[in-house]
Amino acid sequence: METKDLYKILEVKRDASRDEIRGAYRKLARKHHPDANPGDPNAETRFKEIQHAYEILANPEKKREYDEGPRAFFGSREDRGGASGGGGFSDMFDGFGGLGDVFGRSVRQETERLKGDDVTVSVNLKFKDALEGVTTRVGVSAEEACGDCRGSGAAPGTSIKRCPDCGGRGVRSRDQGFFALSEPCPRCGGAGTFIESPCSGCRGSGRVRKNRQVTVRIPPGARDGMKVRVPGRGGAGRKGASAGDLYVVTRVEEHPVFKRSGDDFVVEVPVSFVEAALGAEIGVPRPDGSTVRLRLPAGTQDGRKFRVRGAGAPSVKKGGGGGDLIVEASLVVPTKLRRREREILEALADERDEDVREELFKKAESS
Ligand SMILES: [Zn+2]
Ligand SMILES: [Zn+2]
Repeated sequence: METKDLYKILEVKRDASRDEIRGAYRKLARKHHPDANPGDPNAETRFKEIQHAYEILANPEKKREYDEGPRAFFGSREDRGGASGGGGFSDMFDGFGGLGDVFGRSVRQETERLKGDDVTVSVNLKFKDALEGVTTRVGVSAEEACGDCRGSGAAPGTSIKRCPDCGGRGVRSRDQGFFALSEPCPRCGGAGTFIESPCSGCRGSGRVRKNRQVTVRIPPGARDGMKVRVPGRGGAGRKGASAGDLYVVTRVEEHPVFKRSGDDFVVEVPVSFVEAALGAEIGVPRPDGSTVRLRLPAGTQDGRKFRVRGAGAPSVKKGGGGGDLIVEASLVVPTKLRRREREILEALADERDEDVREELFKKAESS
């Protein structure tokens, strides 16, 4: 087999230090790892070359041998013997804390896989409670650590053994010539442990589904459909991993008068046609039960909106101020008139002698 220049493979100079060699290896191993190059059949070959070059050049004895003599280091039987013995691949990976660390992937994936499930429940809130904030309890059905085995999954009185297939490392090295490829241990699923007598309460999973009550603080100003996160109160994690989160979705009772719009509330307020025409100071109810005064200008039209600053809902965001109260004027026309009232209005009609539809007809004819 052809002998390749190991220094060229690692892209370092012949006088490179151990640290430089190690740094170059890490960089190239990441770049050429088969998982990072899906669909590239040459990636694995390149990756193996890089691993091999590093194995020789990182070992002072082998490096000296390589530097001194024109021996075929690539693919020789003797070298394979050296690799699986002391000072070979396993040391190299131990130095890095395992392949998972080198690629920053397997360990994280494993942690994600063991984390407990997120659980979503909904809570019905009275309008007032949503506005003012409330501490309430919600029923949650979620996985919990099994009480019989305290989450270990092993029957009480028995112990958890180190996995015999991987010696507790959770990864299995598959020897392929020089190259030890790591993969999660199939027997223990990467946990490194092995349960001889599974707990009968949880059938060895360490977790059981239970109903429980969780206390949740709903912040003032909660909107309908809002998600309140309660960290760590979801399902229990597997094998001691962290629990999932609980999400509480608020269902806020509708108010007959106040309609929510973001942090604002909208309220339709009846205004008599005399108040609208003359202008008036009127009282307007607020969501919190108090009353706010509002100055209506003379000539207020039906549907006109007024904004009362800060009279809406508190903002659930910290430092978000609060919402406003939007007051929509709704003109009230009397349905019954007494004789005297009728006379006054007729006098008004004579006085104004107006045609309020004149503009409309002009516009209707013009195009
Ligand atoms: Zn159990
Ligand atoms: Zn194992």
